Amino acid sequence: MSDFSSLGLSDWLIDQCKQMGISKPTAVQENCVPPILQGRDCMGCAKTGSGKTAAFVLPVLQKLSEDPFGIFCLVLTPTRELAYQIAEQFRVLGKPLGLRDCIIVGGMDMVTQALELAKQPHVVVATPGRLADHIRSSNTFSIKKIHFLILDEADRLLEQGCTDFTKDLEVILSAVPAKRQTLLFSATLTDTLQELKSIAMNKPFFWESKSEVRTVEELDQRYILTPEKVKDAYLVHLIQKFQDEHEDWSIIIFTNTCKNCQILTMMLREFNFPTISLHSMMKQKQRFANLAKFKSSVFKILIATDVAARGLDIPTVQVVINHNTPGLPKIYIHRVGRTARAGRHGVSITLVTQYDIHLVHSIEEQIQTKLKEYPAEESEVLKILTQVNVTRRECEIKLESTDFDEKKEINKRKQMILEGKDPDLEQKRKEELEKIRNQKKKFKNKIHEAIQRNKVAFLVLLNSRGPRALHIDVKL
Ligand code: AMP
Repeated sequence: MSDFSSLGLSDWLIDQCKQMGISKPTAVQENCVPPILQGRDCMGCAKTGSGKTAAFVLPVLQKLSEDPFGIFCLVLTPTRELAYQIAEQFRVLGKPLGLRDCIIVGGMDMVTQALELAKQPHVVVATPGRLADHIRSSNTFSIKKIHFLILDEADRLLEQGCTDFTKDLEVILSAVPAKRQTLLFSATLTDTLQELKSIAMNKPFFWESKSEVRTVEELDQRYILTPEKVKDAYLVHLIQKFQDEHEDWSIIIFTNTCKNCQILTMMLREFNFPTISLHSMMKQKQRFANLAKFKSSVFKILIATDVAARGLDIPTVQVVINHNTPGLPKIYIHRVGRTARAGRHGVSITLVTQYDIHLVHSIEEQIQTKLKEYPAEESEVLKILTQVNVTRRECEIKLESTDFDEKKEINKRKQMILEGKDPDLEQKRKEELEKIRNQKKKFKNKIHEAIQRNKVAFLVLLNSRGPRALHIDVKL
């Protein structure tokens, strides 16, 4: 393995990497940094946790230091959490440059963001929807001169999943210059990405991690075959065991729905496990706050839907539990990639029912690794089965009875997401519209009052001229 200086990076960047505790480049960095420095477009396909963020952050910073201006680089990424993570790496590595960055994601104040964009930061990290909104509504900034356009988790951005970014990407792509360097990074290589070589026009360099296995060797991948109704008991048992055997620990549990996420969180709290949740129906501020509490180990267990599956980098996570078997191998790869990051060891345990076995087979085929059975102590699980299931039912009832309005709100937000809208943005728009309506109403009332005053004055005036005027009917 080479070192950073042989990749063509400047000393100040190498020092900054050392400060961060990074001394040797990873494969994706070793292969992608030189062509990016040469000015070529690049498509990097590498395992999650392989250091792909630094693979684009480092050459961008080097180029920026040679010709600093704003806005120099635009990074697009599918989730808000990833945007913050990427911006953090830019900030840490770009500190000696006095790098100015700006994060443009939904759920945050648009006016503040517009002001920040107008200050021409060097790097903008954005989710497509919010950035497209700014482009549509504002002329106080321009991305016409950017040098780098980076699509992180490019497969997710370009595929039409539950959030379709196509329209927003069209707006953004029409606002960036044709002459630019385009970098696409992704953990999973899809047909869409293959076709995408056309977006990158600048002698594209394509690099794919040599290993066909898309999960790291340090990851011990396990499964437990269980009937659906015993799943929760296994979950409680696994957590208890892990808590008893380790001092410093943290676990991410992935589940398929927001409701399940809430119920499992309530249930595990009943067992006194320090649990917190993260799902797309939560308000953005709450999402960040919960993630921060988990990162700082205030809470040891994070229960999440797939919003947290991609790219999140929390080095201390030792275990990922899949409460449901992911329907797509790609989702499995992203989920288990939250542990065993940057050379550390980790375990993933997937709870598999008899109906999911075919899913496990397609996962195994994709990762070219056989999942091993986890040696769970069934007798211990059966001992807690009734208690766990009763607790779950209680939590379900509690959720249904106490959160009725919230559930309605959640359903509304869910519907908006399905329609490709940002619920936080819609809420803000509604509030702004309400504000405008109220202002209009106030204005109307004032006019009304003024007219009335004039009419009264007129009446008084008429009255002073003769009795007939008193019969004038004042209709307001
Ligand atoms: P990423 O794949 O970009 O999410 O990076 C995963 C983790 O690897 C992050 O915590 C990085 O700080 C870390 N990392 C990046 N480059 C290196 C490197 N060359 N050596 C060790 N760790 C690294």
